Amino acid sequence: MRKLRVLVLDVGGCEGCPIAVLRALPQITSIAEVYSKHLGNADLDQRYDVALVTGSICINDNEAIEKLRKVREHCEILVAFGSCAAVGGITRFCRGGQEPRPEHRVYQPLSSVVEVDYAVPGCPPAPQVVQTLLMSLMRGATPFLRVFAAVAKAKRLSGFDLLDDVVLSGLCIGCGACVLSCPTNALQMVEKKPDLIVEKCIRCGTCYVRCPRATHILLTRYPVQIKVLAPQV
Ligand code: SF4
Ligand code: SF4
Repeated sequence: MRKLRVLVLDVGGCEGCPIAVLRALPQITSIAEVYSKHLGNADLDQRYDVALVTGSICINDNEAIEKLRKVREHCEILVAFGSCAAVGGITRFCRGGQEPRPEHRVYQPLSSVVEVDYAVPGCPPAPQVVQTLLMSLMRGATPFLRVFAAVAKAKRLSGFDLLDDVVLSGLCIGCGACVLSCPTNALQMVEKKPDLIVEKCIRCGTCYVRCPRATHILLTRYPVQIKVLAPQV
C-alpha cells in the first residue's frame, strides 16, 4: 500500500497546530509522507492526497488567497486544521493596523475562501487527532468525519453559541466535557451547568465540538456529503 502524501501548510497562525502535527509524526510515518511548508516555500504544483492547512486567512492578502486556492486545486482532501483555520479562532480579535503587516485587517476561517472538506477545531487539536483523521480518510470511517465536515459548513462556533444552542435551550446534561476542553478556562460549572466568562472566550470552537448535545445539533443543521480517499494501492 502506498503512503499518503500529506501537505502541512501554515497560512498565518501561531505555529501551535503544525507542532501538533509534528508531535503526531511517530504515529503516522508508517502511513504518510509529510511535507511541512509555509506559503513562502510551498511547491504548489505538487499533488497531495491530504492538505492540513493551519492558521486563518487574511482576506486583504490576495497573494495568500491565490496560493490557498492553488493548494485546493492540487489536493484531494483539504482539512482546516486547528481553530484559526476551522472557525477563525483567536485571530477573530484582529483589529487591523498592527505591525509588521498593518494592511492585514480581517482574518477568516479557510472556508470563507476555498471549499474545505473537514474543519478540526482545537487550540491546537490533540496530536492523536491527526492519526485518527488520516486513518478515517483511508478507511471511510464516516461517523468521525461527519462532525468535522459539519464544522466546515458552520464556519463559526464559540462558547457563546454553546450557551445559546445547548445551555439556554435546556439541552445541557451537565457532563462537563465543554469545561474540560476549553483551553482558556472560559467555562465553569455553576449549579451543574456551564457558564461562560465572556472575557476569556477566544472563540476557538473546541467546546462546541466536544459537547455531545451540540455536535448532534451540528449534524442535524448541516447534513454533509462525506469525502474519503480512494483506496491506496
Ligand atoms: S468557551 Fe473556551 S473552548 Fe469554547 S470557544 Fe470559548 S475559548 Fe474556545
Ligand atoms: S458538554 Fe454540552 S452537555 Fe456537557 S456540560 Fe457542556 S454544554 Fe452541557
